[in-house]
Amino acid sequence: MSAATPAGPLAAGSTIGIIGGGQLGRMLAMAAARLSYRTVILEPQVDCPASQMANRQIVAGYDDPQALAELAAGCDVVTYEFENVPVSAAEALAAQVPVFPPPSALEVSQDRLVEKRFLNSIGLPTAPFRAVDGDDDLAEAIAAFGGDGILKTRRMGYDGKGQRVFRDATGEDAKGVYEAMGGVPLILEGFVRFQREVSVIAARDSAGNCVCYDAAENVHVGGILRRSTVPAGCSSHTAIAAQEFAVTILSRLDYVGVLGVELFDAEDGLVVNEIAPRVHNSGHWTEAACAISQFEQHIRCVAGLPLGRTLRHSDCVMENLIGDEVFRAPELAAENNLVLHLYGKAEARPGRKMGHFTRLVTRPVRP
Ligand code: AMP
Repeated sequence: MSAATPAGPLAAGSTIGIIGGGQLGRMLAMAAARLSYRTVILEPQVDCPASQMANRQIVAGYDDPQALAELAAGCDVVTYEFENVPVSAAEALAAQVPVFPPPSALEVSQDRLVEKRFLNSIGLPTAPFRAVDGDDDLAEAIAAFGGDGILKTRRMGYDGKGQRVFRDATGEDAKGVYEAMGGVPLILEGFVRFQREVSVIAARDSAGNCVCYDAAENVHVGGILRRSTVPAGCSSHTAIAAQEFAVTILSRLDYVGVLGVELFDAEDGLVVNEIAPRVHNSGHWTEAACAISQFEQHIRCVAGLPLGRTLRHSDCVMENLIGDEVFRAPELAAENNLVLHLYGKAEARPGRKMGHFTRLVTRPVRP
């Protein structure tokens, strides 16, 4: 099989490689198993959440050449569960085995500056932004945005990490900040005044067909997703526009797989916050409220199976179990119409995603 050609449909018993061993990899491995695929996880941490559900784990760094060669040799297709896979590793793999989503999607989503420029270049609005490579850049950017903004590291930021908020700031407030943020490339974003945050989980197959799940309304606390509610409280016009944005992104990236798009529902219209080239926390509700979850959808895409329908049979609310909230599990398990999912992490550290649950708000059954 040529590395450039689509992988599928993969025969039963074929092997899917997954780079990254967290809960997203775990849920992908579970979905793959239901479709009779085997999975191999590449992850340095032993007994990671994904490996507990997979057939095999290669315990090594994501850029270990020997491990990547082993992964390529042992898999029919490779995918990933997080966006910080080194692009060079994904490209090296893609020369030997099909890799979906395409490594170019990693390049766009790994750097907030590249991501925003890409989004603007395809006609999608983002927060105003300025690249910041020193205190002088920061002082200028703060002045340009009227003293308010969010400073973020361009790379490797997640769950609100590597961010600093400025309100009514002046050039004086910029002093020493660049070094304090680690001396790495930064971006200052102007504040978007939004009514709500929404996200869309969308998928594209190798023939270019696209499907979208219903938009979710998301609440973040301390930069971490707390709750996703479906349907979102926005107008149906806005929800459809968000799906159209997602399809535009998928098509322009020539994407194969599931993608998460986070947006602000602002007064002047939708603004894209960020894209994630993977299954997404704000799509976990799909495992409880749709026949085909985002995880199965992704496996279908990378395996060359037909896309699944994205219809939702129930309204629902998904909540993350963070840190010691996981100890609520027995009480939650006793509730009706609640789907509980725990990630098998041994230690409930503060801020660590330990599981989630989805409450289904079932509709009356027609007589
Ligand atoms: P991020 O890591 O970029 O997803 O940011 C984490 C959270 O901070 C978002 O979900 C928003 O709640 C908030 N946020 C980030 N960027 C902006 C912005 N430019 N304007 C307003 N709020 C923002």
